[in-house]
Amino acid sequence: MLNIILFGPPGAGKGTQSVKLIEKYGLVHLSTGDIFRANMKGETELGILAKSYIDKGDLVPDEVTIKMLESEVNKQENPKGFIFDGFPRTSAQAVALDQFLSGRGTEISGCVSLIVADDEVRVRLLNRAKDSGRADDADINVINDRIQIYKNETLPIIGHYEKLDRYSAVYGVGEIEEIFKLLTDVIDSL
Ligand code: ADP
Repeated sequence: MLNIILFGPPGAGKGTQSVKLIEKYGLVHLSTGDIFRANMKGETELGILAKSYIDKGDLVPDEVTIKMLESEVNKQENPKGFIFDGFPRTSAQAVALDQFLSGRGTEISGCVSLIVADDEVRVRLLNRAKDSGRADDADINVINDRIQIYKNETLPIIGHYEKLDRYSAVYGVGEIEEIFKLLTDVIDSL
């Protein structure tokens, strides 16, 4: 199996590139943000809980997020592999992901980061808010909190994949096609 983590700050382009990558490699796309938003829209119990964190820019608690992701992974019977987009975001999530992939006899093939500077992230998210209607993109204070949480809680996970020699990074600013090429070059070399 080919199991890729697409890593990077909010607004790095993980969603955009994931759509192209799943098409090229025939993978299953698991975006925790998309799954939470679908639940918010459907006003499920999970959605109502998630909304109370997401609108403020906080992370949804690990326990809830890990359980949800594991059940999404287990729904797939014979996948060629997964693209994890927005997961893991904490070291507990990274450890849990290793555990449940190893339970299925597989592992992370690579964690690829999209490098985008904070100022570019702020501009992109405020722009996205115009179309997305996402409350967490419309407020600069919420955006700044998300960037801070990314640095404090999410960035340190890189060490986990570096130790396994499974970490790479590409520059995430430029044409979508150019960035896609950089990503596929990395993935093809895994
Ligand atoms: P972005 O990467 O643009 O911030 P996402 O759609 O990936 O957007 O995530 C939106 C929000 O959903 C996050 O700010 C967070 O509140 C919540 N979320 C998504 N993934 C996770 C996760 N793995 N752990 C905890 N919370 C998450």
